[in-house]
Amino acid sequence: MTVITRFPPSPTGMMHIGNARTALFNYLYARNKGGKFVLRIEDTDRARHSEEAVEAILASLDWLGLDYDNTPESQFANKQRHINVANEMLAAGNAYKCYCTAEELQAMRDNMKEEGRIVAYNNMWRDRTDYPEGQPYVVRIKTPLDGCTVVHDEVQGDVKVENKQLDDMIILRSDGTPTYMLAVVVDDHDMGITHVIRGDDHLNNTFRQNVIYDLLGWDKPSYAHLPLIHGPSGGKLSKRHGSVSVEEFKNEGYLPETVNNYLLKLGWAHGDDEIISMDEAVQLFDFNGINKSAAKFDYAKLENLNAHYIGVADNQRLVDLVVPFLKQQHDIELNDVTSKRLLDGMDGVKDRAKTLVQLADESLLYVKDKIEYTEKARKQLNQDSLIILKSLEDKFNLLDQFNHDTIEVACRALADEAADGKLGKVMMPLRAALTGTDKSPSLFQVAEVLGKDEVLNRLKAAIEFIEK
Ligand code: GLU
Repeated sequence: MTVITRFPPSPTGMMHIGNARTALFNYLYARNKGGKFVLRIEDTDRARHSEEAVEAILASLDWLGLDYDNTPESQFANKQRHINVANEMLAAGNAYKCYCTAEELQAMRDNMKEEGRIVAYNNMWRDRTDYPEGQPYVVRIKTPLDGCTVVHDEVQGDVKVENKQLDDMIILRSDGTPTYMLAVVVDDHDMGITHVIRGDDHLNNTFRQNVIYDLLGWDKPSYAHLPLIHGPSGGKLSKRHGSVSVEEFKNEGYLPETVNNYLLKLGWAHGDDEIISMDEAVQLFDFNGINKSAAKFDYAKLENLNAHYIGVADNQRLVDLVVPFLKQQHDIELNDVTSKRLLDGMDGVKDRAKTLVQLADESLLYVKDKIEYTEKARKQLNQDSLIILKSLEDKFNLLDQFNHDTIEVACRALADEAADGKLGKVMMPLRAALTGTDKSPSLFQVAEVLGKDEVLNRLKAAIEFIEK
């Protein structure tokens, strides 16, 4: 049997991180089994349909690298097939027309509340055939009146519900449109889906969908229902906790491998492994590792994981990734000189950033035209340090080889000559002059990357600043 899993998002806006986790688990299971992962857009809600929302889903999947193996299917496009199946069920006597009016339904609901029952509809049209001419009707399925429906869930084990708790649900509305419950079953069957992996908020739907499978005599897929993702303060993860969509995390400077690794760990475990690459995840993923209870989203943990992935990312890739952040945050565009500099300095910079937003800030010392001094840097640029900076200018000017080691030797020599051997007395003003701040990666390294001309330019600017 070829495993076929699916991701069937409803395009309602940006992709929620919970949906991304569902997509990831379906993707990993299919890849682990050498099967297929297919995409179906559940676009039947035409009133709220937006192509932009579809594009947002495709873009998020693409960014996460969750490649699907089909041309995305449209549920709406399969509408006639859903209607045909409903009509077959009618013809086979597994479904019936219900002419119940809105008032009658309301009365049943009121009744239900009084009696404390779960099922509202009282099956009043189930055994009737005196269909009134020209009146609107819905099509309902004949849910077995007794017995149980059992879902063999890969995560939760066997979950059982008594059929009398399930109503004769609607599969065609009075305007002739199929319901979600029917459409999902028909599409999953037609697409050959073998495994349905989704949030456990769908478990109630699964019972109902299984009734439809049974009435149609179709094989059911296997199920794995994933416990939901909760926010740090409990409750379903939502906007009030912070960012919740893939797009937001991308815009905040998270790497796709961070998000995938974090989402994998949020609901699945392989021993104590924390850092798991996509390749490893494909090798290791199984249903056994899925947690049985809801996981709490931890923003700090996500950030620390991102720091790890930025630290091990390829430097050229980071330069490319930081470009839009430099533009957006600082209105800076790279040119050949600054992008080469940033690449050369990236090793020192990337260890100081937890997100690409921070990476853009840390990159400024290499990419800014003109260094501006922070308050703390200004304090270093005073009459006492003027002599130091001027001496550094002289010493650097004399260097034929301008690299980490020769710069260090020059700085130490000056410390001995002018500051009782205290290197800090040399480095603090030099740091202020070169970076405009009081913190930076290794300054010898920074100076080497900037190069002799740029270092001399920045020293000159700092000296002018003091003398002004
Ligand atoms: N369109 C549904 C949703 O976005 C998917 C339901 C399913 O997995 O069957 O929640």
